[in-house]
Amino acid sequence: MVRLDKYLADMGKGTRTEVKKYIRSGRVRVDGEVALRPDAKISSGQIVSLDDQQIIYEQYQYYLMHKPAGVISASEDKRQQTVVDLISERGRRELFPVGRLDKDTTGLLLITDDGPLAHKLLSPRHHVIKTYQAEVDGLLTEDDIKCFQEGIQITQEWTTLPAKLVILHAGRNSLAQISIYEGKFHQIKRMFEAVGKPVLSLCRIAMGPLSLPAELLPGQYRTLTDEEYNALMKLKE
Ligand code: URA
Repeated sequence: MVRLDKYLADMGKGTRTEVKKYIRSGRVRVDGEVALRPDAKISSGQIVSLDDQQIIYEQYQYYLMHKPAGVISASEDKRQQTVVDLISERGRRELFPVGRLDKDTTGLLLITDDGPLAHKLLSPRHHVIKTYQAEVDGLLTEDDIKCFQEGIQITQEWTTLPAKLVILHAGRNSLAQISIYEGKFHQIKRMFEAVGKPVLSLCRIAMGPLSLPAELLPGQYRTLTDEEYNALMKLKE
């Protein structure tokens, strides 16, 4: 059971004060009847609408974003714009990005308030695959593919798990796709650095069952399709 004003605020329909006004002005119905009390208790199965548009209560919210460069992967920050700041209808939800992309990295980012799912996606034990497209300074070769496949020693204590490198273009600057099963700080940049070909630009194109949709431009986001949602829920089973 949840209060009507919280129900609407949680679903991003306005602040608690704003939605109280909507309720008191008769814009909200519960099971077809105008509901004038913000503290009315709503139980599952009841139908809530605002201006005759049904508002379905979701336990968690999920947004798939094409993170632009120049924005940090955090929920809030005193000085810098965050990926969560870009989501305008977030209501009172405590959204956060699942994992971090560097400030200059672009690409797929899942933003949610579903802690258990985030844990599954990020936990090193689950080895969720992440694929990036990287432009690097230098000529990528078969040797690099082998090095990445064998795991790259980054520090004395850390050799990466095997990673798959697919060279899309080899030249003075090269373009490649790289898939990894872990997600340590600056991992991709450090791996390319280790083979002497520093990253010039980096874009994440897939994470687990999610892929960066071609139509989503940097800075844009959308809710998940049913297919994407169902694929993520399978991870939680
Ligand atoms: N690896 C990096 O080096 N940077 C990112 O943003 C993501 C993975």
